[in-house]
Amino acid sequence: MRRLILAGGGHAHALVLAAYAAQPLSDVELILISPDTHAPYTGMLPGVVAGHYRDEQHQINLARLVERAGGVQRLDRVAELDPEAKELRLESGEAMAYDVLSLNVGAFSGPVGLMDPRVAPVKPFGRFLPTLNEFFDAAGEGRVRPHAAVIGGGLGGMELAFAIAFRLRGAADARVTVLTRDVEPLNELPPRFRRRILARAPKAGVEIISSFDVTAVEDGAAKSADGRAFEADFFAAAAGVRAAPWVAESGMACDPAGFAHVKSTLAALGFWDHFAAGDAASLIASPRPKSGVFAVRQAPVLAHNLRQAIASGGPGAEMNYRAYHPQKDYLKLVSLGARRAIAEKRGVVMEGRWVWSLKDRIDRAFMAKLGGA
Ligand SMILES: Cc1cc2nc3c(=O)[nH]c(=O)nc-3n(C[C@H](O)[C@H](O)[C@H](O)COP(=O)(O)OP(=O)(O)OC[C@H]3O[C@@H](n4cnc5c(N)ncnc54)[C@H](O)[C@@H]3O)c2cc1C
Repeated sequence: MRRLILAGGGHAHALVLAAYAAQPLSDVELILISPDTHAPYTGMLPGVVAGHYRDEQHQINLARLVERAGGVQRLDRVAELDPEAKELRLESGEAMAYDVLSLNVGAFSGPVGLMDPRVAPVKPFGRFLPTLNEFFDAAGEGRVRPHAAVIGGGLGGMELAFAIAFRLRGAADARVTVLTRDVEPLNELPPRFRRRILARAPKAGVEIISSFDVTAVEDGAAKSADGRAFEADFFAAAAGVRAAPWVAESGMACDPAGFAHVKSTLAALGFWDHFAAGDAASLIASPRPKSGVFAVRQAPVLAHNLRQAIASGGPGAEMNYRAYHPQKDYLKLVSLGARRAIAEKRGVVMEGRWVWSLKDRIDRAFMAKLGGA
């Protein structure tokens, strides 16, 4: 009986568990280590923030998935890893040995040093949403001003700002601002897509302040590297995404942000029996932005390769691994707060209520595939 540990209940592992429920593994002790019985599906997160979905609609039921896959869940977090000894230590202090390990533990956001209590790191999402809801309650009761700032002007940060602005609509004096260090926000996107998103910001109630490199948040004000200050009553830190320190401390090869370097098979560099997927993985041959799309597309390859690793029990397994080739172009969908969205694929930009309905159908189908909330 070999032991397979899935560390983290991210999108890739949720789908791996669904695959093993449909086609069970044999002679394996399957363990999922994850701090919660549920994990948020990020595709629907902006819709939850905007108020289009109830919280439970975007909660992936990990406990049920792992049970159906014939495994057990440990409600804990990995705190230390020794890949040579094939042993990890949990936050509770317990040590666990394993034969094959896969990491899908996501990421942390928020530049280090933002210590003001008004700052909430967007990742991990599970901790972010309750804090954001406290802000909405406080703003609704007039205890704080409805002034929110999102630190980080990437696609995720922008979508979050649209959602917050929609939720605060109608509140007197509402103000939602994106603070981004970029001179030209979203310049990694195709120009027509980028221009369309930025053009929608003023009408949606989102102000964008560019070239604002946040170095600290103190006494309710974000300070920029060039000496400016911006006041708000809530700061969502969406920038500065990095890995948990224990990944790099384990000695595994990592990129500068601490994410595990993986080969196209998703096996960690130098290992046949350690894998990483989703935000936790840094693909050496074809780096991609941190997006749930990649975690989802990696899942079938990860499920196959973990099965091979467990069945073979030795490095020869690698001969039967499949490779993951991330698509260069994929459907990008950004919701605009209200039930409208913009999409882009192969340079074609589409917008409207129907695009939001399309995104809604895709997201609901994803949740249904995982057995619902
Ligand atoms: C506002 C916003 C909106 C976004 N919208 C989209 C979108 O519409 N579409 C899209 O494709 N992407 C979107 N993204 C990007 C997306 O959030 C991530 O790329 C995606 O969540 C990555 O999923 P994952 O599988 O790597 O892990 P995650 O979803 O991050 O899950 C990781 C899991 O691991 C657990 N965990 C963490 N540490 C440990 C530990 N030490 N031990 C055990 N378990 C641990 C966590 O509790 C969590 O459940 C958005 C991002 C933001 C900021």
